[in-house]
Amino acid sequence: MKTGVLASQGAFVEHISSLKKLGVEAVPVRLPGQLKGLDGLIIPGGESTTISKLMKDYALFDEVKKLAENGLPVFGTCAGMILLAKEISGNTVQSLGLIDITVRRNAFGRQTESFETELSIPVLGEKPFPAVFIRAPLIEKTNGKVEVLARLDGTAVAARQGKFLVSAFHPELTDDLRFHKYFIDIITGDK
Ligand code: GLN
Repeated sequence: MKTGVLASQGAFVEHISSLKKLGVEAVPVRLPGQLKGLDGLIIPGGESTTISKLMKDYALFDEVKKLAENGLPVFGTCAGMILLAKEISGNTVQSLGLIDITVRRNAFGRQTESFETELSIPVLGEKPFPAVFIRAPLIEKTNGKVEVLARLDGTAVAARQGKFLVSAFHPELTDDLRFHKYFIDIITGDK
């Protein structure tokens, strides 16, 4: 199995390392040709406006959208979640529109722009997950067949729709590999 990590901008190195720790082949994707033969793709955190622009500049935007619509599993973290969302409050970013959620960027107040918290994520088991939030977006609204996987004070911060997975936080910045493993299980059809 081969998983790509979009490497236009942001925290892609850490995702590659998490995948490798799980024994999964992981490659950075900067150009459309590198999407060939992938079984899954991660879009990392960073700056969603920049990632969206670079994806267009490097002809990745339409190609990723097409592959995803044809069944490629995609996992978006933080800025990556913004890019996967159908709607973004204020329409500040052009997104791929893959998962039927509305997100709000930079949604946590100033004092709490960045924080770590123990989050209950039932699909990962009983042990709470160490979730790192960095200028994170939140999920304002979910539609259709979207399954909310985690909430923080009642607000949705992780979700799944079929083969599309999103988290407002950064699982690649912790040693806990369960969220990445969950994505791998989605790729293999085990989850
Ligand atoms: N604030 C960023 C954005 O709106 C996301 C932050 C992150 O990915 N850590 O794109």
